[in-house]
Amino acid sequence: MATTALEVDVTIVGGGMVGASLAVALQGSGVRVMLIESVPFESGAQQSFDARTTALGNASQRIYAALGVWEGVAGAAQPIRSIHVSEAGRFGFARLEAREQGIEAFGYVIANRVLGAALWQRLARADAQLLLRVPARIDHIEPGAEAVAFTVQGEAGASETVRTRLIVAADGAQSLVRSAAGIAASVEDYDQVAVVTTVAADQPHGARAYERFTPSGPLAVLPLHDGTLAVIWARTPADARTLLALQEADYLAELQAAFGWRAGRFVRAGARGSYPLRLTRAATAVAQRTVLIGNAAQALHPVAGQGFNLGLRDAAMLAELIVAEPAAAGDPAQLQRFADWRAGDRAGVTRFTDSLVKLFGDPRPGVGLLRSLGLLAFDLAPPAKSALARVSAGFAGPIPRLARGLPVRHV
Ligand SMILES: Cc1cc2nc3c(=O)[nH]c(=O)nc-3n(C[C@H](O)[C@H](O)[C@H](O)COP(=O)(O)OP(=O)(O)OC[C@H]3O[C@@H](n4cnc5c(N)ncnc54)[C@H](O)[C@@H]3O)c2cc1C
Repeated sequence: MATTALEVDVTIVGGGMVGASLAVALQGSGVRVMLIESVPFESGAQQSFDARTTALGNASQRIYAALGVWEGVAGAAQPIRSIHVSEAGRFGFARLEAREQGIEAFGYVIANRVLGAALWQRLARADAQLLLRVPARIDHIEPGAEAVAFTVQGEAGASETVRTRLIVAADGAQSLVRSAAGIAASVEDYDQVAVVTTVAADQPHGARAYERFTPSGPLAVLPLHDGTLAVIWARTPADARTLLALQEADYLAELQAAFGWRAGRFVRAGARGSYPLRLTRAATAVAQRTVLIGNAAQALHPVAGQGFNLGLRDAAMLAELIVAEPAAAGDPAQLQRFADWRAGDRAGVTRFTDSLVKLFGDPRPGVGLLRSLGLLAFDLAPPAKSALARVSAGFAGPIPRLARGLPVRHV
């Protein structure tokens, strides 16, 4: 077995949606990066770039535009021009029109695989400063004052010893790097499972996204660029099992009954997938020469479509700090600045998402009426709408340069 010793500036563990985006943001910066991913992008077992679709907020769109990734995926991205929020059996509903907010779109829906292909194509470009280890496994992680030491094991059993000045946990909600750094995480089980699929309707979607709160769980219906709709339906685990086992026609009938006819008649459904829903929150964002981003830091309920958008802003801010001062990569002051700058956005979006799940899941008498009134008031109150439009578009607190459409580096 060959053993070599390597020195790198930054090691990103996890090349999913967030880790791959960070690696792209650091490309060409002169920073020596190692990216370790256990499951290759092309593999059917890749869990980040699976059959799901993601609603990207405007800040995320700007980040990808500034990174030169957007031009390759724009043709496959569906703009969301309006949002309709309602609750089954209640009178209140809210409508948001991008035009009224003076914006082109609230965001763009894109297939995870399309985004993944664009990111991994960029990473595959010859680049002496980017060391790709895919598929590979990280082991023996030992954080120290000057560097983190670890070993990385490739497919053929080749083992390398590596020293990195900063290790980035982008390895998802069950982060191994987070545990190795001794950072605790709290896990709150929502006792819900998202059942996800794509459906075709007999009328055009008109670029409208729907969020419908039903007694059996929140239901999101998003327009896709091929004219179909992505459906994300959070149900109890038992209901989800039933829903997954239904024949296509029975699934469509159940969906239609819960959603209503505002998007037309649902005529076809694709394969269904399922995701247990939990709120996972790391106790801290940073530890010795270690930083957590994306789901490794916070994994949210998908009800408001915010998890990835938040994680991408983590990546954009971290790239900015590293590129501004590469010699300080992983130094305590740099990590603390990152933690401070990201704290408001992280806490705000996490709280917003969690309260939405809880408010609309609250069966107490009277709460339903308050929700209806809330939605009505929201529909009538332009400032509230503008505030939500801003949250959906991203950020609270310092805004990463990339999210403002600027290059990662100050020039
Ligand atoms: C049903 C559903 C719908 C969603 N829709 C939206 C949406 O519309 N908008 C939105 O903003 N967010 C959405 N989200 C949230 C979004 O999917 C996550 O925020 C996003 O996947 C986080 O990306 P990540 O790269 O941090 O983590 P992950 O996607 O979990 O990726 C982690 C990566 O690390 C790799 N890995 C894991 N362990 C190791 C290891 N030890 N070594 C090497 N590699 C490792 C994995 O193979 C994977 O590639 C949704 C989530 C769900 C469940």
